[in-house]
Amino acid sequence: MFVYAIPLRNRFRGITVREGVLFEGTRGWGEFCAFLDYDDAEAVPWWETAVEAAERGWPEPVRDTIPVNCTVPVVSPERAHAIVATSGCTTAKVKVADPGTLLSDDLDRVEAVRDALGPDGAVRVDANAAWDVDTAVQAIRALDKAAQGLEYVEQPCPSLDDLAAVRRRVDVRIAADESIRRAEDPLRVAVAGAADVAVIKVAPLGGVRRALEVAEACGLPCVVSSAVETSVGMAAGLALAGALPELDFACGLGTLPLLDGDVTTASLVPVDGVLPVPRTAPVPDRFAEFAADEATTRRWLDRVARVRRNPG
Ligand SMILES: [Mg+2]
Repeated sequence: MFVYAIPLRNRFRGITVREGVLFEGTRGWGEFCAFLDYDDAEAVPWWETAVEAAERGWPEPVRDTIPVNCTVPVVSPERAHAIVATSGCTTAKVKVADPGTLLSDDLDRVEAVRDALGPDGAVRVDANAAWDVDTAVQAIRALDKAAQGLEYVEQPCPSLDDLAAVRRRVDVRIAADESIRRAEDPLRVAVAGAADVAVIKVAPLGGVRRALEVAEACGLPCVVSSAVETSVGMAAGLALAGALPELDFACGLGTLPLLDGDVTTASLVPVDGVLPVPRTAPVPDRFAEFAADEATTRRWLDRVARVRRNPG
């Protein structure tokens, strides 16, 4: 097992370095990179996702390529414009409502993104559950105007009841992300009338097969998103996007540029806003450049040992 540590280009989810474990099985490479604030029980599906990739492989895809969005973190309008203009993507996801930031800054950033995309591009925003209902309604209306039309807003509020309340009061589609972390959650989201779109991530759901079942059960259009893995883990997200019967929106799998490097020369960085659907994860042939220090390595190997003992 190899433990990596790769700096992030911008702070993301409160972290500045992405860490995880890579290992090779009979079918290829797997990546285990549950965020460090996840306890051992929550990390079990992440481990199962890695084992599926390494030992079992993925279902047959129904498409060869996946359109992806670029991701705009909390940066200046100038930087946001440059990220979008150089991405080659026609869909951009803009982070908004970061703690300690102003709505006016979000509006300026979203305006710059629309300017970079042109009128035919799609702008979506992600609030990561930061707002209460009234704040969300006001902010979404303002952001929708600044964007000259939002494709959707991701997780404006924490609870399902609040998502449903916001959804009744705005004309913008609501996407559920944080509300979908366990296999039974998407159904609750759909039943509660809380969202128009489900954001599905492979790792917290325990693998491509289980994520496919979850997508089918929820009956909503799905967007496959990454957990900011290296290309090894990202490949599982592409396998899911490739195997979904329908795919109506660009996926959130263009996140490799958020990392300041990758463990493979076969990096899954989007070209012209598109990524290929791989049959196996790329081989981490650049691992040595991003090998974690001794203490980090020991911490991750201990975590793996605990998670493997956990029955889930
Ligand atoms: Mg999100």
